[in-house]
Amino acid sequence: MGSTALTEAAKGIRDWSMKGGHISSAPVNAAEIFGSRVFSDKAQQERLPKPVYQALRATITRGEALDAATANTVATALKDWAVEHGATHFTHWFQPMTGVTAEKHDSFLAPTSDGTAIAEFRGKELIQGEPDASSFPSGGMRSTFEARGYTAWDPTSPPWLHMNGNSVTLVLPTAFVSWTGEALDKKTPLLRSMEAVSRQAVRVLKLFGSNAERVFATCGPEQEYFLIDRSFYFARPDLINAGRTLFGAAPPKGQELEDQYFGSIPERVLACMAETESELYKVGVPVKTRHNEVAPSQYEIAPIFENANVAVDHQMMTMETLKRIAPRYGLECLLHEKPFGGVNGSGKHNNWSLSDEFGNNLLSPGDNPHDNMQFLVFCAAVLRAVDRWQGPLRASVANAGNDHRLGANEAPPAILSIFLGDMLTDIFEQIEKGSAKSTKQGGLLDMGVSVLPKLPRDAGDRNRTSPFAFTGNKFEFRAVSSGQNISFPNTILNAAMTDSLDSIATELEKSTAKGEDLAKAVAKLLTKIVKEHKRIIFNGNNYSAAWEKEAAKRKLLNLKNTVAALPQLVTKETLALLDKYKVLNPREIHGRYEIFLENYSKTINVEGNIMVLMANRYILPTALEYQKNIGLSVSAVKAAGSPSVQGRKLLVTYTKLVDRFKAQTDALDKLLDHESTSAETHAKYMRDQIVPAMAKLRETGDKIEVLTPHENWPMPTYREMLFVK
Ligand code: ADP
Ligand code: MG
Repeated sequence: MGSTALTEAAKGIRDWSMKGGHISSAPVNAAEIFGSRVFSDKAQQERLPKPVYQALRATITRGEALDAATANTVATALKDWAVEHGATHFTHWFQPMTGVTAEKHDSFLAPTSDGTAIAEFRGKELIQGEPDASSFPSGGMRSTFEARGYTAWDPTSPPWLHMNGNSVTLVLPTAFVSWTGEALDKKTPLLRSMEAVSRQAVRVLKLFGSNAERVFATCGPEQEYFLIDRSFYFARPDLINAGRTLFGAAPPKGQELEDQYFGSIPERVLACMAETESELYKVGVPVKTRHNEVAPSQYEIAPIFENANVAVDHQMMTMETLKRIAPRYGLECLLHEKPFGGVNGSGKHNNWSLSDEFGNNLLSPGDNPHDNMQFLVFCAAVLRAVDRWQGPLRASVANAGNDHRLGANEAPPAILSIFLGDMLTDIFEQIEKGSAKSTKQGGLLDMGVSVLPKLPRDAGDRNRTSPFAFTGNKFEFRAVSSGQNISFPNTILNAAMTDSLDSIATELEKSTAKGEDLAKAVAKLLTKIVKEHKRIIFNGNNYSAAWEKEAAKRKLLNLKNTVAALPQLVTKETLALLDKYKVLNPREIHGRYEIFLENYSKTINVEGNIMVLMANRYILPTALEYQKNIGLSVSAVKAAGSPSVQGRKLLVTYTKLVDRFKAQTDALDKLLDHESTSAETHAKYMRDQIVPAMAKLRETGDKIEVLTPHENWPMPTYREMLFVK
């Protein structure tokens, strides 16, 4: 069977190469196609009467409400634009708490009294939709009989056309709320957090003489993923149903040679990436970077940063497009955090910053950061935010998949800390002692070869191990997981920052109102913040055991798994933070807490059940067959007069493993049959009982695998899945 999948994969690759690759289009001119399926600013300008266009821009850039007449005009223009591009349907696209996106398609056609149909789309349909919400998770915020849920158009994220074979659909990004106005999705709290952080940031900017009226959180997420041959994928029930392999012995060659990282990209994979990118360009996603990642068959795609709300929508579209295009190349895209045990997992580096309405990056240090008060204030606000709100930040990236990554010596640890680099650390050390007087410069990098240019050297090196790193003019939250919607981590980050900026603005406003010099007040405040929060700064190796000890001394949180981390969402402090800035009310947070716990338990439960299925129906029959064959061989050899010493030894070893495997399978099966009184106790049970039982069963299964003839093994192996490409 393993070899059948291998034959299929080899055939697929051969056919693909012989056809010159199934490349559905010629190389594209990115500039020409970019945004061609988006109702972009340009399209809006061309198609809307000037006052309507201006009203819409006011909504988009300043958050002003859209009136009914304007909405009607926009709707008509939008429909005409979509229909001209072949659209027959429209959909309100939203992000319920399931983690994936949801959509319900409606036709533009409305029947008329004379039996014909006309294409129609009114303002009301643009602004509001009403999907039956009863089957979406609400975490107890709503009972199923209160099924009403509304989708509300988010005019700040541009509509786009989804083309799928013979259909074209107009997609409208929307927020999803209950009849009582509670957020049932991931977009609503993000939008609320963007407004909150904007309000406080503007207060701080005003002190420095800025006349900015709005500040935007900006975000550029780097997505890691695996691509493997689809015939392997279909031959693995664990990959199909759990997104990761639950059995699988380590391959003889892993990633130890590190020859994969930034290595040349295989032809078929490159073609797949190129088509994925051109699809994304068309719908306005500004993807920019592609490269091989550390693990075999692992890759990365990253866009140019955007307003965080748009970046989140575009990130969801990127994940969907990766999944959708890969099969055209006989590939399957795996977005799971840990598809393969013992091999690097996938994360999503969430690059984040704040920018004012004029496009000034508030975390850009300039040439002399020690002299750049405004920058130092915003940077100190981040230190305070991450230190003060470690708990909810850690919880915002907690899920069953990420438990395999965080703290597993390949990804940042579960402890949050900030890497500032030499230059900024030096400045903040000066601040702690009173005031900053100089900036360490990097100078020029001389490579000792006269034809090579002298490169400007950064003042400090990078640090790959940090969970939250300053990288030049932005912070990079690296504990975010590859499969998750990045909306929630950004929501929490914005909320934490809101709290910091509020406190800073309040202090500085007080000081200046008393007639104190702003520079002096800032210097005093910065020193205070650094003293209180410097424990969060760590520039060393985050993978080392010494750091775990040191972090404990500093009393930093070290929440090693989802079940330990999630309660941080419902502490008194977190509830108050999110309520105060109107990001999430206590009911909404409790609802999310329940959903996250349930997701965790359901994920582990599915994995446990698949393991039992694979053990009983795939591995055991194969193992028993081979056990019998060894037995037959031993008897035959014995009958021929030889004692078959090695054969008997193998029989004993193998039989022991098989017996243990069967016993562990039954034990896991029995443990899975369990009910708990609450979501919390159930999640704990899954973590403390099921996860260890799964680990034991896997260990035995993997030992059996390496002793069983390859041609009999019922599934593709790691060696095949990771290296045949
Ligand atoms: P790095 O190698 O430092 O991670 P890149 O320049 O490739 O460098 O940046 C990685 C990601 O960070 C990209 O998606 C980029 O758009 C994003 N990024 C750059 N500047 C900002 C910013 N001001 N705010 C948010 N994201 C940013
Ligand atoms: Mg990066």
